[in-house]
Amino acid sequence: MRRVFNFSAGPAVLPAEVLRRAQADLVEFRSLGHSIMEASHRSPAYESVHNDVIERLRRLLRLADDQHILLLAGGATLQFAMVPMNLHAGRECCYAVTGSWGSKAYKDAATVGNARVVYDGKPDGYTALPTDTELDVSSDAAYLHVTSNETIEGVQWQQLPDVPCPLVVDMSSDILSRQRDMSRVDLFYAGAQKNLGPAGVTIVGIRQSLLERVPNDLPAYLSYATHQAKNSLYNTPPVWNIYVVGLVLEWIEHEGGIDAIGTRNARKAAAVYDAIDGSDGFYRNPVDPKVRSMMNIVFRLPSPELEAAFLASAADRGLVGLKGHRSVGGIRASLYNAMPEEGVSALVEHMQSFARNA
Ligand code: PMP
Repeated sequence: MRRVFNFSAGPAVLPAEVLRRAQADLVEFRSLGHSIMEASHRSPAYESVHNDVIERLRRLLRLADDQHILLLAGGATLQFAMVPMNLHAGRECCYAVTGSWGSKAYKDAATVGNARVVYDGKPDGYTALPTDTELDVSSDAAYLHVTSNETIEGVQWQQLPDVPCPLVVDMSSDILSRQRDMSRVDLFYAGAQKNLGPAGVTIVGIRQSLLERVPNDLPAYLSYATHQAKNSLYNTPPVWNIYVVGLVLEWIEHEGGIDAIGTRNARKAAAVYDAIDGSDGFYRNPVDPKVRSMMNIVFRLPSPELEAAFLASAADRGLVGLKGHRSVGGIRASLYNAMPEEGVSALVEHMQSFARNA
């Protein structure tokens, strides 16, 4: 089999080493005589996998003792609802809408309680981010929700905002891709299928002080307090997915941790943005250069016909998953942690030769 360079926005490329380890463990895990998929979630073998994932996440993210990790199902989408259900406490839930995912999060919150958009990037086509002073939030707000990286529009907060109320961050498409000051974050969540592993498990980090406001009349699964009290083993967790996340976290540590990964990701993104900026306008990225995403790089060519030809010839060279989101079109190169630098060089070469020959 020939492994291609997969630029998909998610589910996305996983490190080849991780896939090989998972393959080796697939039939028999640690001399159990069966796989981890077939292990009871109450067994010592699974519990050690589960606790190891939580510990590694805590270590890699440099969380404080009062920040708890939960391993949930339902995707980041379920968090769009769980966040307001658990945290509104009768107060205003504030949303900085800087792209399509932030907009969806806001819409779900509006079905749950009193939600308000405090910054709307839509009029500018989601190409910019607000400064802290442009965020109209007070200390009375339940929280401010931001999306650290908008996967569809390719807009990324370089530094998370400093606001007088709790900060909630959807980190689905940039968790563990660069160093972040997590002491500013009171709740974060991320579906696994971009930087962490296979789809099916969602990581939530919640500060103790927010757990204290969770209402006690929520259905059990929808309450963060349930999962915290049961160490995310209230019901059957997605055991296989969590096991693969553990392999990815081990891989990140082996690669030198977040500092090394972040440096490599910055180099990868710079190579593609340089190719765009050096193309005399053949490739165009609409995002304010100060907030361009290191993870999802969007660009257009002069016509839809040229974009289709670009995608077809990229696929011939083993560069796949480059089609922009169906809602916006164009090209999108997702450069998650597991995308090797050789993949990025191959993409840049393709961009240069395509532009030359167009
Ligand atoms: N938030 C962001 C930033 C995303 O990129 C995505 C998925 N692409 C989601 C939320 C929704 O995630 P899920 O499909 O896991 O529910």
